[in-house]
Amino acid sequence: MISIEVSAQCQGHGVCYLNHPDLFEPNDQSFSEPIATVVSDEHAVDLRRAIASCPNMAISMHPVTVPNTGTEGGR
Ligand code: SF4
Repeated sequence: MISIEVSAQCQGHGVCYLNHPDLFEPNDQSFSEPIATVVSDEHAVDLRRAIASCPNMAISMHPVTVPNTGTEGGR
């Protein structure tokens, strides 16, 4: 899992939400917000593209460790 953050560096150019509308959307001031703050690893490539194309370096992604539910392994 990956967490997504958009910082206050965002100036609402829209590159991210126009190119990746499944990951980002504009708020009522046209600043970007992640549609989901945590997404599956399958979005990693698109997230890296969004990060690379943001002119304000406002997007960051971080791996999220999913806690062990204790349902695996059993005795
Ligand atoms: S590309 Fe960057 S500056 Fe532009 S809306 Fe997205 S996060 Fe904001």
